Parts: sequence; C-alpha cells; structure tokens
Amino acid sequence: MLNFELKNPTKIIFGKDQIKNLEKELPKDAKVLLLYGGGSIKQNGIYEQVKKALHGHEVVEFGGIPANPEYAVLLEALQVIKNESITFLLAVGGGSVIDGTKFLSAAALFKGDTPWDILTNGIPTTVGLPFGTVLTLPATASEMNSGAVITRAEIQEKRAMGGPGLFPVFSILDPQVVASIPQRQLANGVTDAFTHVLEQYMTYPAGGYLQDRFAESIMQTLIEIAPRIMKNPADYEAAANFMWSCTLALNGLIQKGVPGDWAVHMMGHELTALFGIDHARTLAIVAPSHYRFNFESKKEKLAQYGKRVWGLTEGTDEDIAKEAIVKTEEFFHSLDIKTALSEYTSDYKGTAEKISARFIERGWNGLGEHKSLTPAHVQEIVEMSY
Ligand code: NAP
Ligand code: FE
Repeated sequence: MLNFELKNPTKIIFGKDQIKNLEKELPKDAKVLLLYGGGSIKQNGIYEQVKKALHGHEVVEFGGIPANPEYAVLLEALQVIKNESITFLLAVGGGSVIDGTKFLSAAALFKGDTPWDILTNGIPTTVGLPFGTVLTLPATASEMNSGAVITRAEIQEKRAMGGPGLFPVFSILDPQVVASIPQRQLANGVTDAFTHVLEQYMTYPAGGYLQDRFAESIMQTLIEIAPRIMKNPADYEAAANFMWSCTLALNGLIQKGVPGDWAVHMMGHELTALFGIDHARTLAIVAPSHYRFNFESKKEKLAQYGKRVWGLTEGTDEDIAKEAIVKTEEFFHSLDIKTALSEYTSDYKGTAEKISARFIERGWNGLGEHKSLTPAHVQEIVEMSY
C-alpha cells in the first residue's frame, strides 16, 4: 500500500427532511449568497425548504448557473459577492452549482490578476470563502471533495481546479431530492460515480486490499440499485444507497494508498468542451477504449473486477479481463448511455488530433497511473472511441 494523508473536514448531514437543519450549520451573523442552477429547485420544492430554513438570515440569491458551470456567469456572481460583502456561500444543486461555488470560494479571495489563472496555472486554494451545500443530484461527490471543473465556452475549455481550502463546511444529503431527477440525469449520476470508482481502481495491484473491497462494494451497490432508481426514483431505500455511493466514490477515501488513473476524465472533459456532451456520457465514450488500449498494464485488475464485481468465471484471466470491459459497456447501455462518440455527433472526425494537440500545448505528456500516456496515445484512444 502507498503512503497517504487523509483529511476530510466536510460535515455530512444525511437523511430524510434534513434540509430544515440547514439553519443550525450557518454562522450566526453570516451574509449568505444562495447559488442555484436553471431553476429545477423552484419546481421540486427544494427552494421553499431552503428559504424556510434560512429564515432570519440575510440572504442574497444568484440563480442561473448552467450545467458545466460557465466562467462568464460565475464572474457575474463574483461581482455580487464583492458588491454585497457576502461572507458565506450556499450551493443548492448538483455538481455544476457546487463546482461553480467552489470556483467563487477561491476567486473571492484570489489576489492574482485574473481568476482564470487559478485554472490554467493550477493554483491550489488553501483558504477560500466558506461554503456549504444542499445536494440535489447524486453523481459527482463534489459535496464532499475539494475539486471543481469549470467551463469557458468562448475558448472551448473545461479545466479542473482544487485545493485543501475548497471542502464544503457542510453538505446536506436528503435522498428524497432524487424523486424529481429526470431519467437522463439519473443515468448520468450512476455512470459518473461508477467511473470515479474505476479511475481509482483500474490501475495495477498496489496491495490496497481494503481499498479494492471498498471500491468493489460501491460498484456492486450502484449495479444493484441502478434499475430500481431508473424505474422509480422515489424509492427511498434505493435513492439513499445511490446518494451515499456517489459521495463515497469520490470523497477521497478509496483513493488513499492506491494509484489513480484519471485519464478518462481528462479526455472526457475535452469532449464536453468541444461538443457539450454531458460529463458522464463522455466517460462512457472514453473508458472502454482506454481499458482496451491499456489492457496489458491493467489486465490483472480488470480480471479481479470481472470476477468480483460481475461474477465472471469462464475462461482464463485474460478472457475474464476482456469480458469485464464488455460488461461495463453493457451496464452503460442498460442505462441508455451510448458509448461511441459518433452516436453523439456527426462532426467527430479530427477530434483525436485536436485533443492530442491541446494536451501537447498544455505540456500534458504523461497521463495515467504510470504517467506514461503520451498525447500520441491519447490520440489513439480517442480515435478508438469514435
Ligand atoms: P448538473 O450539471 O449539476 O445538473 C444537471 C441537470 O440536472 C441540471 O439541469 C439540473 O438542474 C438538474 N437537476 C439537478 N438536481 C435536480 C433535481 N433534484 N430534480 C430535477 N433536476 C435536477 O449535474 P452533475 O452531474 O451533478 O454535475 C456535472 C458537473 O460536475 C460537470 O461539470 C462535471 O465535470 C462536474 N464534476 C465534478 C466533479 C467533482 O469532483 N467536483 C466530479 C465529476 C464531475 P438545475 O440547473 O436547475 O440545477
Ligand atoms: Fe466525474
């Protein structure tokens, strides 16, 4: 097992009707900026619950953060934070609203020229403006980690940021919010969380027996609850397991002591930046090709995954490893998630070259757990995903 440090300061408040306890978590004299997305919270009753819980606090609102949180919109929110002397941010939404809030938390205290530098120069945030979240969509685990991904449409970029100062102070997880989530977003949530686990698991055996079992149990739970949640998102037990699985998939725990890959996400972000494809779907496009391309270095873990998660027994370890990739694709298909780029856009020719050129420009010469995946390899993998 590799050496590690683990510190996750986010307080999780999980369960039925917990939004009403929001008030207890806020600093008494806080001036709160309530941040939300395109307005789903006004249709499903979450907005009313939050407003009621905020009663007695000074609250300013900023709505309209789009999916794949857009830099230009966030700069408007940043202006509100400054003009109104906001002291606490409250994100009510999914990964996009929470990631956008993390950017604002960092940008509000940033001393440099332009906050875009935080993303392009990889500047870690050690202290941000404090924020909490009310999660409305299980998927990203942004509610219990310190990372964020921000889009800037004018230059077709989607870049990551983070730092130890960007953990939410608290996150409220009420599984009842799942009841109003549309099918497309439920499928995205399962796929994103499942791929988060794969990124931290499908590497090489590193002696993290316990971490492997944690990872496998999250994947098994997602496989078990996926049909239930797709059939009836108001099934509380399924929703609760879905929500907690998504959080545990990327709250840092399963990443400790083992290598991480993350190349699927790096390539996937480019597909969102170029074509606007939903984050989770970009992962389903890239992951199978990535595992086929890197088969030799990942086959031991692929075989372990095939046996333990999918119960495969027939053939050699190599056969099982190959079949495990097929099982993964079939799982995505069962959620109505397509796994070829050409199924999302007819304009895919040249994408692999474009992404490879971007990675060269950024100096991303070695991705993956061995830091050995070059832009030329990336080009091949993306081409295999067409
Ligand atoms: P999202 O973009 O936050 O939300 C997708 C859609 O679902 C929005 O239209 C949203 O509406 C709607 N929605 C959310 N909750 C709902 C509810 N309870 N009922 C009905 N509709 C609801 O989706 P996401 O998958 O959570 O986040 C994706 C973003 O997170 C991507 O930018 C991705 O790159 C990033 N990400 C971050 C991390 C991380 O660790 N920080 C990890 C993976 C991915 P509203 O607009 O009205 O809210
Ligand atoms: Fe993700």
